[in-house]
Amino acid sequence: MTVPGRSTGRIILFPLPLQGHVSPMLQLAQLLRSRGFAVTVVHSTFNPPNPSNYPDLEFHSIPCGFHDSEIASADLILRMNLLITRCEGPFTTFLEESLRNGPLTCLVTDSWYIFAQEVANKLGVTRLVLRTGSATSLSLFADFPLLFEKGYYPIQGSRLEEEIIEFPPLKVKDLPAIGSQGLDEIPVMVGGMVSNSRNSSGVIINTFDDIESESLSKLREQLRIPVFPIGPFHKCFPASSSSLLTADGGCISWLDGKPPQSVIYISFGSIAAVTDEQIQEIALGLASSNCFFLWVIREGGSGWLDQLPAEFLPVLEQRGKIVNWAPQQEVLVHPAVGAFWTHNGWNSTLESLCEGVPMICMPFFTDQTVNARYVTNVWKVGVHLENKIERGNIEMAIKQLFKDHEGKQMRDRVTELKEKAASCLQQGGSSHESLNELVDYFSSLNH
Ligand code: UDP
Repeated sequence: MTVPGRSTGRIILFPLPLQGHVSPMLQLAQLLRSRGFAVTVVHSTFNPPNPSNYPDLEFHSIPCGFHDSEIASADLILRMNLLITRCEGPFTTFLEESLRNGPLTCLVTDSWYIFAQEVANKLGVTRLVLRTGSATSLSLFADFPLLFEKGYYPIQGSRLEEEIIEFPPLKVKDLPAIGSQGLDEIPVMVGGMVSNSRNSSGVIINTFDDIESESLSKLREQLRIPVFPIGPFHKCFPASSSSLLTADGGCISWLDGKPPQSVIYISFGSIAAVTDEQIQEIALGLASSNCFFLWVIREGGSGWLDQLPAEFLPVLEQRGKIVNWAPQQEVLVHPAVGAFWTHNGWNSTLESLCEGVPMICMPFFTDQTVNARYVTNVWKVGVHLENKIERGNIEMAIKQLFKDHEGKQMRDRVTELKEKAASCLQQGGSSHESLNELVDYFSSLNH
């Protein structure tokens, strides 16, 4: 007898080995396991997850196909290329062997594995993609050819403030680019990702209707395949077990001693690199803000202490804590946290929205600029540090969030979104329904 919303069958998941991609894929794995599927996670030897945190899942490791020295010296684009392309051979071999061991319901890979659709076609496997970013940024990526045609790319300095009519309220300066690059490499990589997603049997997205309904409708028109917005995943299964770095749990007891909504949490995710000059300005901005602060400086070790201005050290002692890596979800849930100064990676943005924490946005690259614009101009739950990262601007942004009427309004709006995020996962909620549809879709593949 089939139980509605549950199924049997075997699903293989293949995450990209980066923190912001591994966590949502492992959360999806647990969601599918909870609906009855047998789930195998195939992972690269680079940044492997810890299988002992997931007794209900099966794991299989494949060689990453590059040496540590190659990845260490690679820039972001080359790094992505190494991660995306070098595992093709080992992954194909694994899939062939796995098919010999029994039928497979479906393969779900990260959307950036641009070789995976061809492999799936060759082996007669149904493949869906997991998009770990927002629906809006995927929709923007799908329209890259149009953006070129309309002359938004290559990005011209004189047009940065211009609104992109096809994607309001995004501005030209929000278009994904990486430093001085982005003219040749990004469209090629993005084009490959979009066409591979379009040729798949469906896209699973870690988002929910209430925050991206228009972008989801547009995306469905652009891709013309089923789109399943079933997020926010982390509200069902926390990411702490999928953390690739060891989090400093001491920050939770430090937060315990602080008044409600008095602390600003600062973290720029797992990839973005802050310059020494920015570190100095952040420190001095925090010093003049009078707020408590919990600051993740990832590069850490003992080196960060030397980069901090001497006058900041007594402030740090009185009002702050610096850690190498935080248990972010636990931090954002903590009542003492009143704001999140973020790079707006999609996971961080969602985690903040879902806990009702307003943001200070400081995007670095790729889709972070798009997410930041949505935070400030669409959901209106944050302040954008658009100008130079400089102590005066920082102090003003913090004051705006913590003291001004505008900040209070942002807090009210983000509290509403928190409630919507919780209810979309309940029976009858949009993500819950979409997950049921996904499970039914997988079940139909078993026949
Ligand atoms: N994260 C964490 N501790 C930290 C910083 C980040 O656990 O100190 C987690 C965070 O909760 C999120 C992920 O790392 O789930 C970062 O993903 P995101 O998409 O925000 O950014 P990326 O690292 O991909 O740039």
